[in-house]
Amino acid sequence: FGSELDGQVAIVTGASSGIGSATAESLASRGASVVIAARREDELEALEASIENTDGEALVVPTDITNDDDIDDLVDATLDEYGRIDILVNNAGVMPLAHIAQADRETLQTTVDVNLTGLITLTHAIVPTMIEQGSGHIVNLSSVVGRFLQANSSHYNAAKAGVKMFGDSLRLDIAEEGIHVATIEPGAVDTELLDHIPDDEIQEGVKEYVGSMDALAPEDIARTITFVVTQPERVDINEVLIRPLDQV
Ligand code: NDP
Repeated sequence: FGSELDGQVAIVTGASSGIGSATAESLASRGASVVIAARREDELEALEASIENTDGEALVVPTDITNDDDIDDLVDATLDEYGRIDILVNNAGVMPLAHIAQADRETLQTTVDVNLTGLITLTHAIVPTMIEQGSGHIVNLSSVVGRFLQANSSHYNAAKAGVKMFGDSLRLDIAEEGIHVATIEPGAVDTELLDHIPDDEIQEGVKEYVGSMDALAPEDIARTITFVVTQPERVDINEVLIRPLDQV
């Protein structure tokens, strides 16, 4: 393992599974202290143990990204423990695909709250610290669907396209403060994301589609994010579209 991130502090949201969990492991293996946030505390504690077993440093902060108080607590806990924030990986997300005519309002609202509003709110909460430091990396998880459309996904597509637009606009305001902003747009990644699709038929259909290809592993995205945040200061990787070779 390298030590390019020694002394740096990273917050990773949605760290209890999939891409977030793999990203926290990867950043910790490069020397970053990782603050791992999500709702499921047991999973976060298991990840903390795994990171600490390999001499990494992790702090568990149970967080619902749709709750403003939780967001403030996450930032306060990070600053109390480590005194700085170098990297924010805005990864928490849900993809409850549904046809607009069959979706309930709560599903639509949650999709935007978790994928977009929570991401904007947490970014707002950490930016003053990064400005004070004069440096930082904000890495936002959008999706291939922020560019290429899929059916039964109007709310999710809108949220993920919003993530991309938020990041590109944010860069205009904070690049001069030394803060980097990247948008990651994964194609199919083998995680539990699809298991939470409420409509059985849609879930089966998407699983069949993803099963027809050699999907990416969470570690593939984690490696990409680690690459993005370990560049020389002058480099700003704006956007990465990363898909399985056979997802064309
Ligand atoms: P997972 O379902 O494995 O991970 C999603 C994470 O988000 C979990 O850790 C979950 O934790 C967390 N989360 C969900 N709701 C909340 C909430 N209210 N507050 C805090 N955390 C929350 O899926 P992936 O790893 O695949 O997804 C990670 C990101 O990558 C998402 O933004 C997703 O949209 C994006 N993405 C994934 C793709 C894929 O093919 N897998 C493709 C393109 C983008 P908990 O339930 O414990 O709160």
